Amino acid sequence: CGGNSSYNDLSSGDSSVAEEVPKYRVVLLGESGVGKTALVSQFMTSEYMNTYDASLDDEFGEKTVSILLDAEESEMVFIDHPSIEMSVENSIATYEPHACIVVYSVVSKGSFKVAEEILNYLWQENYTREKTVIVVGNKADLMRARCITTEEGKQLACSRECKFIETSSGIQHNVDELLVGVLKQIRLRETRDKK
Ligand code: GDP
Repeated sequence: CGGNSSYNDLSSGDSSVAEEVPKYRVVLLGESGVGKTALVSQFMTSEYMNTYDASLDDEFGEKTVSILLDAEESEMVFIDHPSIEMSVENSIATYEPHACIVVYSVVSKGSFKVAEEILNYLWQENYTREKTVIVVGNKADLMRARCITTEEGKQLACSRECKFIETSSGIQHNVDELLVGVLKQIRLRETRDKK
């Protein structure tokens, strides 16, 4: 997306004023068992992670991490509620997230259908146009059992103007790329919204 950050170097002024680290909420959505918890656990081991204070963890599947990307720090809160405990509608209304990660498993047609329904809802609510939504096809390591092609995943994401990535939290494939991608998209949108 060409989203390289550049600094307006106003170094002549007093730069000692401490800047607040921006905090972004990211909600994970998708059928149970697709690997949402596993993905968030992998984020915690990312090379981009600055600090992770486990004491900040909420018992309700919320994890707060500080990410250092392009020499800028951002705090990210990953919210991962089991779908039986909290509906998509409720999650969005409660957290007003900056981004949503909609996960399905490439070995489960049912989870793909659920992802489609979630995206339809986010689309209806105008959320996909106003915020960052990333569609994730997880478990890409299970090649023989795959029943959703990369093309199908891309098409779904594209039809709802979302970004798309296939991952495997099992073999750590594209997990850092997802983490960085989410943060870059949020920053990009924030810059655009300020204009
Ligand atoms: P959640 O219910 O969406 O949070 O799913 P979990 O993170 O609990 O994962 C459900 C199961 O899928 C667990 O047994 C994980 O070990 C497994 N799993 C998660 N991600 C992957 C992956 O990328 N590849 C494989 N092979 N298994 C995975």
